[in-house]
Amino acid sequence: MARKQEADVVVVGAGPVGLLAALALKTAGVDVAVYDANRRTGVHSYATVLHVATQNLLDRAGLLAACSAHGRPVDKLVLYEGAQRKADIDIALAAGESTHLLVVPQSRLESILEDALASRGVRVHWEHRIQSLEAAAEGVDLVVARLDSVSTGYPIARSERVVASMFDLTAKYVIGADGYDSFVRRRLGIDNPATGNAEMFSVYQLEPEGPIPEEGRFVFAKDGVTAYWPLPDGRCRFSFPIADHTQHRPDEAGLLSHLAERAPWFPSTVKGIEWTAHALFERRLANWFGSGRVWLAGDAAHLTGPVGAQSMNVGLREGSDLAACLAAILRQGAGADTLEAYAGERKAEWRRLLGVDASLRGDAGAWTQAYLGRLLSCLPASGDALDALAGQIGLQLKAS
Ligand SMILES: Cc1cc2nc3c(=O)[nH]c(=O)nc-3n(C[C@H](O)[C@H](O)[C@H](O)COP(=O)(O)OP(=O)(O)OC[C@H]3O[C@@H](n4cnc5c(N)ncnc54)[C@H](O)[C@@H]3O)c2cc1C
Repeated sequence: MARKQEADVVVVGAGPVGLLAALALKTAGVDVAVYDANRRTGVHSYATVLHVATQNLLDRAGLLAACSAHGRPVDKLVLYEGAQRKADIDIALAAGESTHLLVVPQSRLESILEDALASRGVRVHWEHRIQSLEAAAEGVDLVVARLDSVSTGYPIARSERVVASMFDLTAKYVIGADGYDSFVRRRLGIDNPATGNAEMFSVYQLEPEGPIPEEGRFVFAKDGVTAYWPLPDGRCRFSFPIADHTQHRPDEAGLLSHLAERAPWFPSTVKGIEWTAHALFERRLANWFGSGRVWLAGDAAHLTGPVGAQSMNVGLREGSDLAACLAAILRQGAGADTLEAYAGERKAEWRRLLGVDASLRGDAGAWTQAYLGRLLSCLPASGDALDALAGQIGLQLKAS
């Protein structure tokens, strides 16, 4: 075992949330180290939707212009029930400095964050898996496995990952931003119970032949919500609800049959499918967001459906808030109760977003009544901006 390394804060996971948290810490003058078990390749650069609040956050970090250069602004959402257009939502009416949603490839957002971090002298330790974590009153001891790929197999070549070396690491604080199957959360013994049903989607990113709608479109049906987003460079993405993975047909015939059933308004023909996948989205919320010197942010602490893009957007806000709390403790002597306050606030927001403590009410027409339980997670906003979007279709968020 190599000698012990030290950092004030260790961030476990270099997804968008961990990268933003590390950047905010470094910008605040805190010594930070970032470890990720994998190497993000960006092969499946699925696009993600940046909420207005997230764009404001990135603007304050000096990164919005770079994201905008690779993004597509979307200023309107159109809601359908089956083939019938039911309501429009104008994003500009939500409070904020930016007046549209921004659709960017998630891999592009991650590389912008990684480059910003590198320009401040912090290099992500890719292929370094945290595999032990012991928290004590005065700090956290971790064991890191450095992974390597070795070629195996003959005559068919394949590669396997092996542990090349191990070393010890100590930190004053740890941020667990290690995604849906969080090792850090499990190590803390924090349960992550389901708050609703999981949903499976068949996702197609495609190159159309002909014009495409400029706005985001959501199609409500009894068995789930279809989401359409126009992407940068004239492409677009559909996520269709499916009952199980056997219904995912990864070919043009599968796409055309979904389009005929769920999106007959789509005006274009299909030139090619860039990629397609089926993905299961669970709804879960951690019982708490950390303890002592180890705290969680992003998918490590919560999961929801993909339509309103709330997981990543609210996760980015958490990464930024948690970094601010730790910087205040480490640099300005703030009390540890700051972290309990962070956890309380995050937990309350997610109980609201997941409909545990709140639900949508209103009389915007019969069609909304049938989908009240689903609508909340489909609106691409949180906090006051979520109320503003819901208000446009005559709904209010009420405590249940
Ligand atoms: C097909 C698909 C489409 C999606 N579409 C959208 C969308 O449109 N909008 C949206 O908001 N969200 C979408 N999501 C969800 C979105 O990708 C996640 O919400 C987001 O990536 C969460 O970011 P994160 O940083 O919390 O975690 P992650 O991005 O999951 O990053 C966690 C990182 O931690 C690392 N890690 C795990 N364990 C360890 C360990 N022991 N040691 C070191 N590193 C570790 C992992 O390698 C990983 O890189 C989609 C997801 C999928 C699969």
